[in-house]
Amino acid sequence: MLRTILLGPPGAGKGTQADRIVEKYNVPHISTGDIFRANIKNGTELGKKAQEYMNKGELVPDDLVVEIATDRLMQDDCKEHGFLLDGFPRTVYQAEKLDEFLAGQGLKLDTVIDLEVAEDVLMKRLTGRRVCKACGASYHIVNVPPKQEGICDKCGGELFQRADDNEETAKNRIDVYNNETAPLVDYYEKAGNIAKIDGAAPLEETFASIVSALGE
Ligand SMILES: [Zn+2]
Repeated sequence: MLRTILLGPPGAGKGTQADRIVEKYNVPHISTGDIFRANIKNGTELGKKAQEYMNKGELVPDDLVVEIATDRLMQDDCKEHGFLLDGFPRTVYQAEKLDEFLAGQGLKLDTVIDLEVAEDVLMKRLTGRRVCKACGASYHIVNVPPKQEGICDKCGGELFQRADDNEETAKNRIDVYNNETAPLVDYYEKAGNIAKIDGAAPLEETFASIVSALGE
């Protein structure tokens, strides 16, 4: 049983570490994006409400985000195994509501995991991705380079950099994350309930640090 949150900027390697945590602790990975999509696809009342805001190009209000997330946490798999939250909470208000929700059930969070990576490393990771125009295969100029620069190993197609991966967009994504999440890190620090993990270390080392923070 594990109840935790995975925090970390874009490029911190959250996806990879989340997969490892799910595998080791047998815990459902609750990503905000996934639960929003599921509610909208299934046409739930919560999904319809969220869709109205999204159609207007407005942010889904905190209270509705909390409702959608806690509704997911009420399902059997979370009751049995706990949860690894990813993308929720995103604000201090949401974090307070999550604590209230858990307290109402006599539960509390385990250690929150914060993956820390220096900005220059994040920039290298985020801007190094190259995608094949023909088959969509994904490469990384540092981590997963193609055999021949600019050419897809699989189909010989031309590799390009997606607009999302350019410097300006990458910097903006990091800034948005920092502005949004810094207060959240403070919140869990005050509660003495956060472990700052070096996300720039090799994958296995980072995962070992996570396990040592969460306990076997
Ligand atoms: Zn290709």
